[in-house]
Amino acid sequence: MTALTELTLSQALAGLRAKTFSAVELTRAYLDQIERLNPTIQAYLAVTGEQATAAAAAADQARAQGEDQPLLGLPLAIKDVISTKGVETTAGSKIIQGYKPIFDATVVGRLYAAGMVLLGKLNCDEFAMGSSTENSAYALTRNPWDTERVPGGSSGGSAAAVSAGMAAGTLGTDTGGSIRQPGSLCNVTALKPSYGRCSRYGLIAFGSSLDCPGPLARTVEDVARLLQVMAGHDPLDATTMPVAVPDYLQALQGDVKGLRIGIPKEYFIDGMQPEVVQAVRAAIQQLEQMGATVREISLPHTEYSLPVYYIIAPAEASANLARFDGIRFGPKVDTGDMRSTYNATRGQGFGPEVKRRIMLGTYALSAGYYDAYYGKAQAVRTLIKQDFDTAFANVDVICTPTAPSTAFKFGENTGDPIKMYLEDVFTLPASLAGICGLNVPVGFDGQGLPIGMQILGKAFAEDTILRVGHQYQQATDWHTRRPALVG
Ligand code: GLN
Repeated sequence: MTALTELTLSQALAGLRAKTFSAVELTRAYLDQIERLNPTIQAYLAVTGEQATAAAAAADQARAQGEDQPLLGLPLAIKDVISTKGVETTAGSKIIQGYKPIFDATVVGRLYAAGMVLLGKLNCDEFAMGSSTENSAYALTRNPWDTERVPGGSSGGSAAAVSAGMAAGTLGTDTGGSIRQPGSLCNVTALKPSYGRCSRYGLIAFGSSLDCPGPLARTVEDVARLLQVMAGHDPLDATTMPVAVPDYLQALQGDVKGLRIGIPKEYFIDGMQPEVVQAVRAAIQQLEQMGATVREISLPHTEYSLPVYYIIAPAEASANLARFDGIRFGPKVDTGDMRSTYNATRGQGFGPEVKRRIMLGTYALSAGYYDAYYGKAQAVRTLIKQDFDTAFANVDVICTPTAPSTAFKFGENTGDPIKMYLEDVFTLPASLAGICGLNVPVGFDGQGLPIGMQILGKAFAEDTILRVGHQYQQATDWHTRRPALVG
């Protein structure tokens, strides 16, 4: 029999419903796997074992009394920038070490209401700033496919946990690529929903016009199950859209015959790893064989995405992070006078990348520069969005590589922030446009490292990209491959 920790969420749910195993047994299996692998992988910052066991027992009891819910008894884990009531939430930063939120993020509350068993909190780059999880103040998360390499970031813990069988499903957040890129580097199916599809309430804010919580899992079907529970209007987040949430599992059915796929020429550029291009092209061909039609398109403002993002995201971050001053939030380093107390608290509490972003952002927002930088960046952001509007008039989805290369080694990009920023060159445009994007595994390079394809859809067309990803996974088995250390 397949190990319990190898089951998809759909399979685990079927097993629980058929009483083949209990939620307590399933949870135990995950806790054992975490005990075995987390010392190496370091995906978890906190494991909530006791709470999980109690929640699993309660789920079994509820089921015995005839109850059923979409996720009843399924063990999941959450990125540590997402608030969990009573469970330490650090955002990967020293500045709020020990912080125990007094409320759940809306998306977490919805998962609990649907029956989730919480396994723990997952490592990430400090305040979700990064592409490798190396900016965490706490731990170095390792890629389960090669422990000398990064898992991607900032949701590196969320991707590594799924990949190593330490959770069948996790939540991450994506501001510029932080769900899709680690998904790609760890062979995990990972969705950035459209901006406004899932509530940001209770996310520790990074770039408020960009942040999106979303699911990572083994299959598109599992991702659809999680999105179903997370999605929808929230009165506590005025940017969530009061639009209907489709039945995502239903939407997976149907085929890709006649589907129009756009391939943007700006996403196949010099300097990319050739194996990435080959694998993505082969995946597109697969979809073509299944009845889709393919045409080249152009998204002409793509090259501005990186500079625009690195004005807008730091600007918003500098405003959002002002509250971590030791007085409103964070442990105070008291030096006697106000100014140096702020300086000492923030100087010791924040890591170098966060400081860099605060400086960049504060500069871009300062009097006299606001129009030249932030205002200009917002104007170009509109052009980037219009590129997608134009493209989606003629195609249903857009397929691109998720990341320009496979997982890199620790330290390889840390000395050069620009090189690290380039990791997100293919994920940033969709974030700026507010549309949805799905990473699906499409192959491996010569060193056995996973390659991902990004499927982009119109805003609120998650149902379409999930269907394309699901149909692709019905015809291929890349997503079922597991790293050797899982055993
Ligand atoms: N890597 C990008 C950054 O550093 C995106 C991060 C994210 O999506 N949270 O900002």
